[in-house]
Amino acid sequence: MALIVQKYGGSSVADASGVKRVAKRIAESKRAGNDVVVVVSAMGDTTDELIDLANAITPVPPSREMDILLTAGERISMSLLAMAIANLGIEARSFTGQQAGVITDDVHGKARIIDVTPSRIQAAIDEGAVAIVAGFQGVTQHTNDVTTLGRGGSDTTAVALAAALKADVCEIYSDVDGVFTADPRIVPSARKIDRISYDEMLEMAASGAKVLVLRCVEYARRYGVPVHVRSSFSAHTGTMVTNYEDAEGGDEGADVMEQPIIAGVAHDSSEAKITVVGVPDVPGTAAHIFEVVAGSGVNIDMIVQNVSAAATGLTDISFTLPATDGTAAMTALAESQAEVGFASLQYDDTIGKLSLIGAGMKSHPGVSARLFSALSAAGINIEMISTSEIRISVVTRADQLADAVRAVHTAFDLDSSEDEAVVYGGTGR
Ligand code: ADP
Ligand code: ASP
Ligand code: MG
Repeated sequence: MALIVQKYGGSSVADASGVKRVAKRIAESKRAGNDVVVVVSAMGDTTDELIDLANAITPVPPSREMDILLTAGERISMSLLAMAIANLGIEARSFTGQQAGVITDDVHGKARIIDVTPSRIQAAIDEGAVAIVAGFQGVTQHTNDVTTLGRGGSDTTAVALAAALKADVCEIYSDVDGVFTADPRIVPSARKIDRISYDEMLEMAASGAKVLVLRCVEYARRYGVPVHVRSSFSAHTGTMVTNYEDAEGGDEGADVMEQPIIAGVAHDSSEAKITVVGVPDVPGTAAHIFEVVAGSGVNIDMIVQNVSAAATGLTDISFTLPATDGTAAMTALAESQAEVGFASLQYDDTIGKLSLIGAGMKSHPGVSARLFSALSAAGINIEMISTSEIRISVVTRADQLADAVRAVHTAFDLDSSEDEAVVYGGTGR
């Protein structure tokens, strides 16, 4: 008998028939003799609709109220799912994040889990019930205020619960058959990856492959939780996210020890670029600029500084950041203009980022050359470049991003010769 934590995303429970379909799947796992804990997301695009509703009331909703509003989505799906499971003759009890013991810091909208004390969940499974937990939410340690974990945060709830309960596996059910070599919505010839390392999955998630949210992968790696990404619409085996060293047994184990050069291509169109124009090229200026940005609570991604023009001693510094933080960063920078002494600011949210990820690239020459020539053959201009040991990212025009991803996917021989990748549901929103 195993303890399995299963997470069902919004597309899997988009309507009443989806809820009933998922309930059947949970009942099958339970009847097969497993203890089952389920984490569920809000139905379909409910979270986006609630955000739209708040924005129709006020342009800057108070973050505490926003969190209470958004957690309502997961309360709807958890209770409906518990009812659907009960209809199949299996006892099910739903719990809010607070009831499930998900304790967070007090950063509304992107709270971090600091502890999980799932005594009520443990009691429910000990008594033979299926426990259903609302994803994406927790409660602050000191004030008992309700928090949310950031978009896609139900994945993190699932892995955190799996770690706290010492579950055998955390299954993430979505609308695709697993992690693919690129987003199947834009690359139909993408291939399903059978096994991927935590490190590669971290880079994929950080680079925009939203099939797993970044924090969930960080958490899984830290606590060694094996994650199985699969579809709730099919019975296919999905993708195992683990350490390569954890691969089991004989020849098969030896095979997976050999890491592929490239795991996949990720894309992200949610970033914007700010250029600080006419910056005095003297020590301390870059530090000053990025202190101002950090002071506005914004995380930056890529940075490029031009060579300064000899005649003027001035340079330009560009950096990328989440477009949702664009206003905060621009406001803070504008206020610092006289002090820092730059000439002007430019804002561009029509950029896209492509990332090529693979643990094998650190020991294989020629990967960057192949990437850049694929992009140039497709007529795509590169605006910025950044690298890690196992990732190369480039910024392009947003409207060329999908073409860029397809060109690079083909150039690295990632296209599948089998059937097209299936996207079973979801709106891609
Ligand atoms: P859920 O509602 O189940 O949480 P998400 O929409 O958050 O689902 O994540 C699933 C989506 O992630 C897929 O529909 C797909 O479009 C997208 N995606 C992006 N990159 C990848 C990838 N490399 N492999 C699989 N899916 C990906
Ligand atoms: N419902 C939340 C969202 O849409 C959390 C999740 O689905 O993981 O972001
Ligand atoms: Mg998701």
